[in-house]
Amino acid sequence: MSKPSIYGLTFEQLTAWLAERGHKKSRALAVWDWLYRKRVTSFGEMTDVHASCLELLAEHYDIQTLSEHTKQESADGTIKFLLKLTDGNLIETVLMRHKFGLSVCVTTQVGCNIGCSFCASGLLAKSRDLTAGEIVGQIMKVQLHLDAIGNEERVSHIVVMGIGEPFDNFENMIDFLDVVKDHKGLAIGARHITVSTSGLASKIREFTDRNVGVNLAVSLHAPNNELRTRIMKINRAIPIEELMESIDYYLSKNKRRVTLEYILLRDVNDQREHALELAELISDRRQQVNVNLIPYNPVDEHSQYQRSEQESIRVFYDTLKKQEVSVSVRLEHGTDIDAACGQLRSKQIKASV
Ligand code: SAH
Ligand code: SF4
Repeated sequence: MSKPSIYGLTFEQLTAWLAERGHKKSRALAVWDWLYRKRVTSFGEMTDVHASCLELLAEHYDIQTLSEHTKQESADGTIKFLLKLTDGNLIETVLMRHKFGLSVCVTTQVGCNIGCSFCASGLLAKSRDLTAGEIVGQIMKVQLHLDAIGNEERVSHIVVMGIGEPFDNFENMIDFLDVVKDHKGLAIGARHITVSTSGLASKIREFTDRNVGVNLAVSLHAPNNELRTRIMKINRAIPIEELMESIDYYLSKNKRRVTLEYILLRDVNDQREHALELAELISDRRQQVNVNLIPYNPVDEHSQYQRSEQESIRVFYDTLKKQEVSVSVRLEHGTDIDAACGQLRSKQIKASV
């Protein structure tokens, strides 16, 4: 049996675990510092921590449980890491370079049960949730890679947009956020973190109540139920009205704007009338939402969908602008290595199923 990763413990959990075994909070602080500031990869390197404490930790935990399978670098500096879990499953993590910093796109589940009709991740039914330690481990893998290059670069932003539905792995995602935000450790600002959901309304409410402070993005992709159900079968169970109510609840408690993601699929949801319908749908919330238009990355198995023409994207964008909707078009990263978020499913994973 492999041991879990210590990265999965929040600082409070680590402190409590050590306290139950007779170790003071100062030890937890020292361990935390070695893990996230000095970033050692073995307990033996924590030279100023008492040996009895290190023995105890090493008996129950590993530090990193992910191993690098392969790494692909794109011409624009994007790096896709294919990482192996202790049970042999492969997951993907992507590092993207922006003007504003370095962001990492993390995976939260092995496969995804939501099964959206356009998505590569949804082709594989979920085989399991990732642990909090495995999600934090992805950030640490990338940070240690940056450390090894030696340019003192830091992961500054996180997008939870890799394989899986984060709100279907809720508690582990919350613990993950707690660890990476912690000021004593990686200290990645809540405002620099975005979680994307396919729209699990009850979880959007719970997320709001837990006051996590990170940005919320919701995959809308269609302006009406008929079309959204065709594209995303989850809409049958949670229709747009229910989804919008949960978003309104979030907005009533947060000053931050919500991002509404909208993939443009040629001749499916990318016409001018769809843009007008979308503007109408969000008309009461125009000041509180951003629409993010996403150029579709074609997926071999979903040949019914193609990327919209540049002209349609322009018309869609202009139509929303004219309706005074705040709108942006997602910049693409690593398209030459299939590294775009939501496109995370490597040829290796495909070969292994
Ligand atoms: N499960 C969550 C988060 C992961 S997907 C969600 O669905 O929101 C992250 C984003 O990538 C979502 O907006 C998703 O709809 C989008 N996406 C999925 N497949 C894509 C593709 N082939 N091209 C472009 N975006 C895609
Ligand atoms: Fe799952 Fe998101 Fe892909 Fe839908 S778009 S199948 S929710 S990963």
